Amino acid sequence: MTTHDLLATRPARQAPPLTPELYRLAVDQADLAVSITDAKAKILFVNEAFTRVTGYAPEEIVGRNESTLSNRTTPASLYKTMWEALGAQRPWTGRLLNRRKDGSLYVSELTISPVVNAQGKTTHFLGMHRDVTELHRLERTVRNQKQLIESVVDAAPIAFALLDPTGRVLLDNQEYKKLVTDLAVAEPAHHLLDRLAPEWRAGLADAPASLGFNNLEVRFERPGGRSRWLSVSASIIDMQSDCADSYFCASGQPGLLMAVADISSLREEQERAKAAALQAVLAEEERAAAIREGLSAALFRLEEPMNVMASAIAVLQRRDPASAGMLRQALDASREHLETLRQVIPPGPQEILVSLNLNEVLRDVLEVSTPRLLAAGIVVDWRPAATLPAMLGRPLQLRMLFKALVDNAIEAMNVKGWKRRELALTTCGDSERIVVEVCDSGPGIPDAWRVKAFEPFFTVKGGTGRHIGTGLSRVQQVVADHGGIIDLAESPLGGCAAIVEFRVDGDPI
Ligand code: FAD
Repeated sequence: MTTHDLLATRPARQAPPLTPELYRLAVDQADLAVSITDAKAKILFVNEAFTRVTGYAPEEIVGRNESTLSNRTTPASLYKTMWEALGAQRPWTGRLLNRRKDGSLYVSELTISPVVNAQGKTTHFLGMHRDVTELHRLERTVRNQKQLIESVVDAAPIAFALLDPTGRVLLDNQEYKKLVTDLAVAEPAHHLLDRLAPEWRAGLADAPASLGFNNLEVRFERPGGRSRWLSVSASIIDMQSDCADSYFCASGQPGLLMAVADISSLREEQERAKAAALQAVLAEEERAAAIREGLSAALFRLEEPMNVMASAIAVLQRRDPASAGMLRQALDASREHLETLRQVIPPGPQEILVSLNLNEVLRDVLEVSTPRLLAAGIVVDWRPAATLPAMLGRPLQLRMLFKALVDNAIEAMNVKGWKRRELALTTCGDSERIVVEVCDSGPGIPDAWRVKAFEPFFTVKGGTGRHIGTGLSRVQQVVADHGGIIDLAESPLGGCAAIVEFRVDGDPI
C-alpha cells in the first residue's frame, strides 16, 4: 500500500465548520467570474472577478438576466442544449460569445451548475466563467497552421508518412494514400522499409538515429513489364510526448518521417535512352554476326568442292600428273582466296566478364523487343525472381543470346492466322543456379529437331531468305561460353520453351 493509499484510508481529522462569511469571501475573491442566479437566470450575486471580466459592477448587473452578457450571435441551438442539460439538473460547460459593458466582445468559457434544494427542485444556478479569447486565438492559429501544413503536404507531389516508434503511421498525405492502391500493399511505408532497411523495426525502437537514409531507390514491377521507381528518404524527428506524466519533464519519442517521390518518368526516359543505345549496339552486333555467319557458311560450303578437288588430285596424280598439277594450282589459289575471305570475317565482340544480374539483362531485352512484340500483338508475361544472385558474364553476349530466343519466339508466333500469341519470361534461382525460361505459344519444335536445332546452319525455314538458321548454334555457343546449358522443351503455353541454366560460380554445368 502506498503512502497515498494510507492517507486516503486514514479517517480525516474533524475540521472546524466554515462560516458563511468565509464562503462569501472565498467566492468573492476567487479568480473566476462567479455569478449566482435564480432558476430563470436572473442574477442575484456576482463576485469581483465577474466585474473585472464583464465591466459590470454588482449594482449594474444584479437583477438583470444573464442574457445581458449575450452578444446575440451565439447559436440558439447552443442555448437549447444548455437549458436541456440544466433542466435535467446536469451541469453544462461550453463557450459563448459575450459582450462587455463597454461593448467589446470576448469568448467566455462557462460552466453552469444547478443548485438543487432538499426537495430536489432547482432553485438557483451557479455560473463560473473566464475570458478565453486569447486561448481561442491561439487554438485557431494552431488549427489554421495545421490546416495550412496539411494542405501543403497534401498538394505536394511527394508521399509523406510519419511513423511512431512502433511503426504505426500517425500522419500521411493524399499521395501516400494513392500508393496504397497503386502498390496494392496494406502499408507502403512498411513495405518500402522492409526492402530498404530490413532491420528497421528494431532500429526504430532501439537506435533510431541509425535509421535515416536519403534517396534510396526501389523498383516495382508492373503488369506488362513496365516498372515503377520510387526514391525514398527517411529521417528521424523528435516528437514531444502528449502524456500527462511528461508534463514537467518533456520527454520525446522518435518519429520516422518518410518521403517517397515517384521518379518513374525520369527513369523511364533514362531506360528509353539506354534501350535506344543498346538497340543500336545489338543491331550492329547482329549485322556483324550475320556477316560472320554468312561468310562462315560460304567457307564451309566452298570447302566441300575443294575437298573433292583434293581427292581428284590424289587420283589424277599417277595417271595424269599434268592435269593434277593444274588442278593443284587451282586448288592452292582457291585456298588462298578462302584464307583471304576468312581473314575479313569480322571478329566477335571482345567483352570482359562482369558481375551482372540476369533480371536486368532480360529487362533490357524486353525493352528493346517491345516494339516488335507490340507490333506482333504478343502478350508478355514477365516473371522475374524477386531476388536473383549475381553471376559473372558478358553483358552484350547475354543480351544477344536472350534477344535471339525472344526473336525466335516472335517469329514462331508472328505468322498469319496464328491466334494464341503469348510469351512468358521467367527467372528463378538459388545460391548455386540460375534458370531462365523463354516460353512461347507458337507451333513448337518437333522432338526430332530439338537436338539438330543447335547444329550450325540448321534451319527449319528451308535455308532461304534472311535466316540461315544459325541463331540457336550461336545461342548455344554463348551459353557454353558462360558454362551453362540450354535445352528446348515443350512449353506450357503449347509452343517451344527454351530453358537456359547457369551456375552462379560460372563453373561449367
Ligand atoms: P432564451 O434562451 O430563450 O432566453 C429567454 C429567457 O428565458 C432568458 O431569460 C433565459 O434565461 C430564460 N430561459 C430560457 N430557457 C429556460 C429554461 N429552460 N429554464 C429557465 N429559464 C430559461 N448566456 C450568455 O449568452 N452569456 C452568458 O454569460 C450566460 N451566462 C449564464 C449564466 C447562468 C448561471 C445561467 C443560468 C444562464 C446563462 N446564460 C448566458 C444563458 C442566458 O440565461 C440566456 O438563456 C441566453 O443568453 C439566451 O437568451 P435569449 O434571451 O437569447 O433567449
